[in-house]
Amino acid sequence: MTDSPYKALEPATLADRLGSISAIRERTGDPARWSVREVGDGNLNLVFIIDGPDGSVIVKQALPYVRLVGESWPLPLKRAFFEYNALIRQAERDPGSVPEVYHFDETQALIVMEFLTPHVILRKSLMEGRTHPDLGKVLGEFCARTLFRGSDLSMPTARRKADLALFAGNVELCDITENLVFSDPYFAAPLNRHTPALDPVVTMLRADTDLKITAQHLKMAFANNAETLLHGDLHTGSVMVSDSQTRVIDPEFATYGPMGFDIGMLIANFLMAYFAQDGHAEAPGARAQYKEWILSVVDAIWSHFSAEFTRLWRTERSGILYQASLFEDQGHGLAAEKARLERLAAIWRDTLGFCGIEMHRRTLGLAHIAEYDRIEDEALRAACEARGLMLGRVLAVGRAEITSMAEVLDLARKIN
Ligand code: ADP
Ligand code: MG
Ligand code: MG
Ligand code: MG
Repeated sequence: MTDSPYKALEPATLADRLGSISAIRERTGDPARWSVREVGDGNLNLVFIIDGPDGSVIVKQALPYVRLVGESWPLPLKRAFFEYNALIRQAERDPGSVPEVYHFDETQALIVMEFLTPHVILRKSLMEGRTHPDLGKVLGEFCARTLFRGSDLSMPTARRKADLALFAGNVELCDITENLVFSDPYFAAPLNRHTPALDPVVTMLRADTDLKITAQHLKMAFANNAETLLHGDLHTGSVMVSDSQTRVIDPEFATYGPMGFDIGMLIANFLMAYFAQDGHAEAPGARAQYKEWILSVVDAIWSHFSAEFTRLWRTERSGILYQASLFEDQGHGLAAEKARLERLAAIWRDTLGFCGIEMHRRTLGLAHIAEYDRIEDEALRAACEARGLMLGRVLAVGRAEITSMAEVLDLARKIN
């Protein structure tokens, strides 16, 4: 199969095409007894579940275009190569955080991986009002471990530079982020849409030149500050959860960028889920406790991120930056701690900035979130969305003045 030209998979042909691959057979058993289901909830790629007599696997294949839009929006197959390369690095840097990869075929742009079950997409779970233990801890530690260990704080610099070059090839997916996240929300771009009742707020935001400057400063940071290997698309639709486990999927947008990008995007999606709860409440006020749980997850993401970043700073600072030879070895251990706090403060500011911008683009741009979209009452939906827009503006423009997560959560409660 590796030598034949690329061809999109179909459920009916899947056993013929993949049945001879031993890494798959080992886990599923006899291909003659496979049954294949297509998963329909992703936007970009084909995803199939193979159920065999001995077990199940996931097959994810890129298409030469965006699945949801069709051939009119071409997108390179090479995104599967970036996703595969990101998955194996994330598995190394935070073992157990991502599905195990069983097989990769670059020509066919396909990845065969562990089937996560009984996991569901976190976004769905947040709409249903379900809680998950350790969610913020796992996600905060995932961010700290992958971001720290993919950077010059930790990696041999030749390896980091090779990875920087490798992931710099992910041009088209970065281009999507650069346009859809940082620019389109702030003018009447052709792909945009928003709830009509938001018109007055949208007019105000698009006239806000400080906000536009902020968004462009953040775009510059995303495009130019190659601090570490990012997941690149770390929202609640890229997290799968069960009652006891949290896993991260779908890193095809992986690229070198600023640490705050992943954390900010992730936190933004929780805050929007928070604002959307009133649209999903079984009765007015019924989700009050659940809303506080969502905020507690946001709090835990940052506190576990910073605690784990601190631990890694103290125990794994083996790269070319802030070397112990300059600090601890000279009796300047306190200065190494001061440097750490300064780095964390810079990541914090970026985090708030990216968080704010993400809340804008998910409400005004092309890609919206189900938590808002599924609120049928338009006035109620607009009210929820407007809170996210206003908080996003305050966080992005005010990112240098907001100094703690408690302040962020308080702003979210106040605006509500
Ligand atoms: P896309 O890049 O098109 O968004 P995703 O990687 O997000 O594709 O996968 C689409 C959907 O397939 C996910 O929302 C999830 O429901 C399912 N899925 C993907 N990977 C797995 C996995 N390893 N285990 C179980 N389900 C998965
Ligand atoms: Mg996805
Ligand atoms: Mg873990
Ligand atoms: Mg994807």
